[in-house]
Amino acid sequence: MTTNLPFALPDIGEDEIAEVLDTLRSGWLTTGPKTARFEDDFAAFMGDGVLAVAVNSATGGLHLALEAVGVGEGDEVLVPAYTYTSTAEVVRHLGADPVLVDIDPSTMNMDPSELERVIGRRSAVRGKAPAAVIPVHVGGMACEMDAILAMARKYGLKVVEDAAHAFPATWGGRLIGSLDSDATVFSFYATKTLTTGEGGMITTRNPAVADRCRLMRLHGISADAFTRDALPGYSWRYEVLEAGYKYNMNDLAASLGIHQLRKSGAFLARRQELAARYDEALRGLPLALPPQPPVGDVHSWHLYVIRVLPDAPVNRDQFIEELSAQGIGCSVHFIPLHLHPYWRDRYGLLPEDFPHSLALFNQVVSLPIYPRMTNADQDRVIAATKRILGS
Ligand SMILES: *Cc1c(COP(=O)(O)O)cnc(C)c1O
Repeated sequence: MTTNLPFALPDIGEDEIAEVLDTLRSGWLTTGPKTARFEDDFAAFMGDGVLAVAVNSATGGLHLALEAVGVGEGDEVLVPAYTYTSTAEVVRHLGADPVLVDIDPSTMNMDPSELERVIGRRSAVRGKAPAAVIPVHVGGMACEMDAILAMARKYGLKVVEDAAHAFPATWGGRLIGSLDSDATVFSFYATKTLTTGEGGMITTRNPAVADRCRLMRLHGISADAFTRDALPGYSWRYEVLEAGYKYNMNDLAASLGIHQLRKSGAFLARRQELAARYDEALRGLPLALPPQPPVGDVHSWHLYVIRVLPDAPVNRDQFIEELSAQGIGCSVHFIPLHLHPYWRDRYGLLPEDFPHSLALFNQVVSLPIYPRMTNADQDRVIAATKRILGS
C-alpha cells in the first residue's frame, strides 16, 4: 500500500518546538521580545540598512506597505494577472483599483514591456500614471527588477514587491528584500519556504515607510506600547494617532521564525538539489521545465512548475487526476485573476485579455518540492510523471 505524498509539508524541528515552549512558559505570547529578535535577525540577514517589520501575514503586510507608500482612494496599482488574489485584494482595501498586466511566458513574471504599454495606456486615459506597481516573483524566481525599477523612476510609481515566494532569492546578486524598491513583503504561511504557521515580514530601506507600517500594524497606537520597551512593567498611557489595523506578529509565530531563518541556508540547498534532480530526470518528456534565473542568481524554488505541452498524451487536468490517483499531491499556480468571478465581473475582463497568463494557466502543474521530501519520495513523483507522459 502506498501512502499519500503531500504537495507541501513544513519542516519544523526540535529547535522551533523548544522555542515555542520557552515562549509559552515566559507568559508573553503577543508581540514582544521574540518578535523583536526575529525582526533583528531578519534585517541582519538582508544586510546593511534594511529595516524589517513583522506582521501576521503577507496579505496584511502588502496592505500596510501600500498604505505606507501613499496608495489611496481612486489610485490605480499595476499587478500581474498571474498571481494570487492577495496581491490585488489589498489594493481594493485601500479604495484603489488594480490594473492587470500580462506576463512573459518565458519567466512567468510580469513582462516589463507589457508593463510600460499599460502605464502608457492608463496615463493616456486618466492624465496621470498609476500610483504603484506590485511585481510578484512567481515560484521564487525574481522579476526583471532593473527594468521595473527604472520604469518606476521614469513614471513616478512606487514599487512594493510581493516576495511571498522569494525567500531567499536574488536579482543581480542582491537579495530580494534589499533592492531599491519602496517595500518588499514576504509570506511565512505554512506552505512557504520559511514558515511561522501564519506570518509575514515587510522590509524597506526607508525609515518613514517602516515607521508607518509599525504604527498601522497595531491600531495606529503611538510608540510600540506593547513591544520592545514594554517589558517588564509597561505604561498604561498611549495615544491613538490613526485608525490602524491589527496585523502584528505574535511571539509564538516569531519563535518558529527565529529558527526557520537559521536553517534557511540548508532548506535552500535541499530545494536546489531537488530542483536539479527534477530537471535531470524529466528532460525529454513532453513537458516544459521551469524557467531558470540569470546565471549567478538564486531561485528560492518555492515552486517547481512544469508545463504539460500540447503533444503530451494527456492534458494538464488529466495529468493532475492521474497523479492524484497515485496519491501524489500537486497544485496549480495560478488561476489568473481575470478568470475569477470577482475580478472578471468588476472590471469586465475576458479570458483573452491576458493571453499569456491564460495559456500558461492551461498547462501548468506545481510538483511537490520541500526539504522534508526524500529522494525516494521524489523518485515516486518522477516515475509517475514518466508513466503518465511517457510514450
Ligand atoms: C501566499 C501568497 C500571498 C499571501 O501570503 P499570506 O501570508 O498567506 O497572506 C501573497 N502573494 C502570493 C503570490 C502568495 O503566494
